[in-house]
Amino acid sequence: MGEAPFDCLVIGGGVIGLAVAREVARTGRSVALLERRSEPGAEATAAAAGMLAAAAEAHSPGPFFDLARRSADLWPRWAERLLAESGVDVEYEGSGLLRVTTSAEVVGDLEIRRAWQLAQGLEVSGLLSLEELRREVPQLGPEVVAGLHYPGVAHVHSHRVAEALALAGTRAGVRLRLSAEVTGVRARGDLLEVSVGAERLLARRVVVATGSWGEQILRGLGVNLRPEPVRGQMLALRPRGLPLPEIVFGDLGYVLQKRSGLVLAGATEERVGHLAETTLDGVARLAAMARTLIPELGPAEFSGAWAGLRPFLESGPVIGPLPQDERVILALGHFRNGILLAPVTAQLVRESLEEGREPAGLMAFSPRRILGG
Ligand SMILES: Cc1cc2nc3c(=O)[nH]c(=O)nc-3n(C[C@H](O)[C@H](O)[C@H](O)COP(=O)(O)OP(=O)(O)OC[C@H]3O[C@@H](n4cnc5c(N)ncnc54)[C@H](O)[C@@H]3O)c2cc1C
Repeated sequence: MGEAPFDCLVIGGGVIGLAVAREVARTGRSVALLERRSEPGAEATAAAAGMLAAAAEAHSPGPFFDLARRSADLWPRWAERLLAESGVDVEYEGSGLLRVTTSAEVVGDLEIRRAWQLAQGLEVSGLLSLEELRREVPQLGPEVVAGLHYPGVAHVHSHRVAEALALAGTRAGVRLRLSAEVTGVRARGDLLEVSVGAERLLARRVVVATGSWGEQILRGLGVNLRPEPVRGQMLALRPRGLPLPEIVFGDLGYVLQKRSGLVLAGATEERVGHLAETTLDGVARLAAMARTLIPELGPAEFSGAWAGLRPFLESGPVIGPLPQDERVILALGHFRNGILLAPVTAQLVRESLEEGREPAGLMAFSPRRILGG
């Protein structure tokens, strides 16, 4: 105690908390970020493939697709600003993406997807044959029957994103506290009191960005939300002399190549609680998926495997002030798309802090809509 209250205290140092802390600190407010692990971005964020793929991830038009596109549009400039602020290059690659299928039954779904996406003004090719798809990615396997080409899709290096955000945030004044687990938040007069072990920190506003955790904090705030961890396993392969020009996104997973030459093959979706482990079954499934899409990956060096827990909420992302206490802002449930959605989430949280009310873009994701109130 004894310390002056922070304007804003962010709980959770994944990509969402880091992005919010940097954004808010840049407005001149005093900000602290509390992260339980000994380094930032060590949970879901570190596991991510870094695709910024609204086109492949959204299944229908609507608020989620709009939010994802808005964030994808923010990304190029965001990457440049992070480089300028931190000196860390997040390896933004506007590679493009092929959404391919090996099943004749899925072709109709791709055509439906294409129709609504075209109507939404997204850049997408007509349905392409294997031969046509191979003009983009010559190594595609013979089982691929058809696909769509999205030239505008990009990807970034998720570790570097966390590193860049942590550095940029610190330079903007964020007090980054690692190995600091928050056990509760409660109102104390016109301030909020945040417990970290025996320590009590005071803040005017608190942002909860605890990914697949934080249930205890939420319960203490009277919030009946329980982000469910959905495990994703990932393989890393180091092929010799295989430039993979685009992201290849199939029915069961995707492969993409990072600037270093490393190829990532991901990801499983498993509901196994908080077990962030890799398994033989998971690795075997990903290996089969990768070889089907790109048979030439078969002889690639196996460079490693990891797993992370995606924070899933049935309602989709929940972003904005709590109905029961507007000083507490949630930024939770980014599931498969937290890297993609980080810039827009940070912007919307900053706007809700500045305006003291929900920005219009947040209505569909508002805790008020999801929790009532
Ligand atoms: C295999 C895999 C592939 C993925 N690929 C992509 C992709 O290509 N593109 C994309 O956009 N997204 C992808 N994602 C999803 C993305 O990783 C998540 O949506 C994103 O990381 C969520 O960020 P977060 O900050 O909410 O959660 P996290 O990164 O999990 O961060 C939450 C943080 O809060 C901390 N915390 C929790 N409780 C407390 C507490 N009580 N006190 C202090 N700290 C606490 C945790 O230690 C953690 O660091 C992928 C995920 C996985 C697993």
